[in-house]
Amino acid sequence: MRADAPVDAVTAAVYQIPTDAPEADGTISWTSTTMIVVRAHADGRIGTGWTYGAAAAGSLINDKLAAIVTGRDAMDVMGSYDAMSRAARNLGRLGIAACAISAVDVALWDLKARLLDLRLARLLGQVRDGVPIYGSGGFTSYDDAQLEDQFARWVHEQGIPRVKMKIAESWGRREDRDLARIARARKIIGPGPELYVDANGGYTRKQAVRVAEAAAACDVRWFEEPVSSDDLPGLHEVRAHVTADVAAGEYGYDLPYFARMVQAGAVDCLQADLSRCGGITEWQRVAAVAAANNLQLSGHCAPYLHLDAAAATPNLRHLEWFHDHVRIESMLFDGITPPAPGGILPVPGDRPGHGLAFRDDAASPYRIG
Ligand SMILES: [Mg+2]
Repeated sequence: MRADAPVDAVTAAVYQIPTDAPEADGTISWTSTTMIVVRAHADGRIGTGWTYGAAAAGSLINDKLAAIVTGRDAMDVMGSYDAMSRAARNLGRLGIAACAISAVDVALWDLKARLLDLRLARLLGQVRDGVPIYGSGGFTSYDDAQLEDQFARWVHEQGIPRVKMKIAESWGRREDRDLARIARARKIIGPGPELYVDANGGYTRKQAVRVAEAAAACDVRWFEEPVSSDDLPGLHEVRAHVTADVAAGEYGYDLPYFARMVQAGAVDCLQADLSRCGGITEWQRVAAVAAANNLQLSGHCAPYLHLDAAAATPNLRHLEWFHDHVRIESMLFDGITPPAPGGILPVPGDRPGHGLAFRDDAASPYRIG
């Protein structure tokens, strides 16, 4: 155990991984995913963090953030986070810089836990042994057979009792297809499991309310970004007229964003993405903002990146078991533990840090920077 080690080095590498099929939601489509992987070294240990976003985040880490963190006390993650945040002021602290800071922050937390020979969740204050997840995919680019394959596998084979699909296809111009797909999804999963929808901000306010009413027989429990998450009064208005929980927050890059969203009464459940919001350091403060307003927090995408922080968040609702990131994280890390029946992702206690080791051999064909 080493509690006085300086950070020796921080490095980032960038990978671009093709999707297994074209993916699209209401407002964007994609055929590959870019992952920026950070490694922080101290006293012979390595902490690993990552984010999904622009390759430029990798350059920002190697050219700017690495020098700020190197030489600092590996125990003082909050101090490193603060130093990186201040240094990014004139670069544009939000967006790409926030993703870069997030990835370094996770690498530093993982490093600290490994130096102390502790599971990361235990270091953060673990309150549960496993974390509820919901299957997330149901892309608008999928045909009926692809939707059925994915949802039947999650619900009927893996026992995950919650699934989410994308709607508002083509910025809300395919309402009939949205409604037909929602009905089909309910038929595939049966009456018990929870059905969630995500419009990615593709509807107008009244359109979102009308779609929710038209889908009432399908018992939709979660309506994510029915309108743009920048339209806080709009989210509030939709929230007042639908029975599903309205959720948003995945584009939050700093703490004031979440405070504004909560203060506007915009959501029934707050979302945050640890790979964007400022890593584990800021995730914990976002959770506190939610808790102070009697809200739960749900983790956006990157399930294995969120696992330990989620296990240490008392007001956690669940994590997003996002198809694309599940596939990538399972492929590129050793130490992945699959979900248990009931849709619970266990936190293995037998390895320090987040327990994952990045597989350079598996990742090298995808390296672009
Ligand atoms: Mg979403």
